[in-house]
Amino acid sequence: MTSPAPSKATHPADKEAHKPSNFLRQIIEKDLAEGTYASRRWGGSPGDAAHHAAGQPDPAKIRTRFPPEPNGYLHVGHAKSICINFGLARDYGGVCHLRFDDTNPEKEELEYVNSIKDAVKWLGFGWENGGESNLYQASDYFDFMYRAAEHLIEAGHAYVDEQTVEQMRINRGDFGHPGTNSPFRSRTAAENLARFHEMKAGLHEDGSMVLRAKIDMASPNINLRDPAIYRIRRATHHNTGDKWCIYPMYTFAHPIEDALENITHSLCTLEFEDQRPFYDWLLERLTETTTLPDGRVLGGLISAPPPRQYEFARLNLTYVVTSKRKLAQLVYDHKVSGWDDPRMPTLVGLRRRGYTPEAIQLFAERIGVTKSDSWIDYSTLEGCLRETLDGSAARAMAVLDPVKLVLTNWDEVMGAGKLDDCSAPIHPHHPELGKRNFKIGKEVWIERGDFEETPPKGFFRLFPGNKVRLKYGHVIECTGCTKDAEGKITEVQATLIPDTKSGTPGSDSVKVKGVITWVAVADGLSAEVRMYDRLFLEAQPDAGGKDFIESLNPNSLKVVTAMVEPSLASAKADDKFQFERHGYFVADRVDHAAGRPVFNLAVGLKDSWGK
Ligand code: ATP
Ligand code: MG
Repeated sequence: MTSPAPSKATHPADKEAHKPSNFLRQIIEKDLAEGTYASRRWGGSPGDAAHHAAGQPDPAKIRTRFPPEPNGYLHVGHAKSICINFGLARDYGGVCHLRFDDTNPEKEELEYVNSIKDAVKWLGFGWENGGESNLYQASDYFDFMYRAAEHLIEAGHAYVDEQTVEQMRINRGDFGHPGTNSPFRSRTAAENLARFHEMKAGLHEDGSMVLRAKIDMASPNINLRDPAIYRIRRATHHNTGDKWCIYPMYTFAHPIEDALENITHSLCTLEFEDQRPFYDWLLERLTETTTLPDGRVLGGLISAPPPRQYEFARLNLTYVVTSKRKLAQLVYDHKVSGWDDPRMPTLVGLRRRGYTPEAIQLFAERIGVTKSDSWIDYSTLEGCLRETLDGSAARAMAVLDPVKLVLTNWDEVMGAGKLDDCSAPIHPHHPELGKRNFKIGKEVWIERGDFEETPPKGFFRLFPGNKVRLKYGHVIECTGCTKDAEGKITEVQATLIPDTKSGTPGSDSVKVKGVITWVAVADGLSAEVRMYDRLFLEAQPDAGGKDFIESLNPNSLKVVTAMVEPSLASAKADDKFQFERHGYFVADRVDHAAGRPVFNLAVGLKDSWGK
């Protein structure tokens, strides 16, 4: 069964026209109106000022970037960042670069690089523009970063510090106390340059010295108290091998990466707000020119105007953790089956759970972009999935906790051994999609919970003496049940009331208060159904440094053997269905196979968690 296209009413693209404004859109619109970046030129690839100056006017009105560190699988928080960065570029005639932030020599793996590319594409975005790929890796800029560091030294803006780590920590001061200048701070540029070259040449031990920006040891912003910009670290890099034994610090590397790529709006999360002054300080030093006493002119390394950094609130989602490191712990400690376990908030996990790109895009749009941190309730994400699947998912009947119902008068009224044909729309609002066909016979599977020997008040389903309709079938009247030695019900009995079949004349002559779903024993298929629940019992599992492992939900997965209608025999991996009365399910993309169906609960029909 193929799933129809998402219904018009819920497709996020339709909401384009009335997309709510946000502070990032306002900034971009202002920059476009004022022509802030209109004079930029683009050399066809990332590069320094000369490279871009030799190029054409930049065909991209704005450039944003999504810069993941390839040290794990992307999660729903990254999806927010992807939707913002790629979405803004799309909406304003720009380009968004995918940049692997791989300046840290450890931990990068090809597996993660590939999964990140897949995730961005799956979400519906691309980094290509014309013939340009705009897929970059920060380690390709190591040569330029080294040159930028040399420039800072020559211009008197950086020095090599040989204090011990402990001395540096003490001399940094704290919030209430200014720092103390390093005794190495007043070295000459020539001395510093020589030392820095020695660092690169491998003449010094790891950790024995660092290159620091020379800013202000008394700055109220501790990030401006001569931050380290290069360190010695003998480590093999996945891209550059053993070429380098010094590596740039993230806070130095990132602004340079943005500048080389002609990024206009560098969007990051709020925790980088305190780094913005250094971001601006550095790019200003690399843009400006300095005339040395000997008349030489230095600088102008990167094109002007440089990129600007803007911060937005990161996504905090209840009942999950959004940190690659913590998600990795769940994987490596076997708390889940892998990065793509359907309970994981990773994009591969959400996808396997039945989430669609449309649902995640809708979610990103709905939570919006703000400048203050908050927690988003998990039910908001689930609501988006429900909304996008409702219009598209084919319907099917499934009995998740089956007990057999025997229609004791079947042989007399329908004929011994006879099966009757029933049908139902594939989608109630899309008659053009046609019908699904199935049989009804003497024995059908019903939900165990649809029968009560002594019904509680307000129970309208099966109990002795009560009539209900088998959905798309006949009205039946319950007569009793059979139990085993332990008192467990093994069979329910009822009689079929003739001439009440759905869709036949006079079928509603007998009024009933309850309608139940069912699957015939004759043509029902057995299927494994994985009933997922939240991975954590606490809304904020890792808040305040709590051990999030302790609030893992021990019942987050329950596997049942269900009976499902025969139309599901043709379900293919990733196909999504609404199991009537139960919720939305997806054929598992890993384990589902013809003849061995496996379905995952994506989301229930109603929100059972929201307050
Ligand atoms: P993690 O701690 O999970 O590794 P990170 O921020 O270190 O997260 P990166 O790979 O460095 O992960 O992030 C790539 C981009 O995704 C960054 O621009 C970052 O700000 C953004 N991002 C990461 N987590 C979130 C989140 N929860 N909400 C919004 N954006 C996020
Ligand atoms: Mg990180």
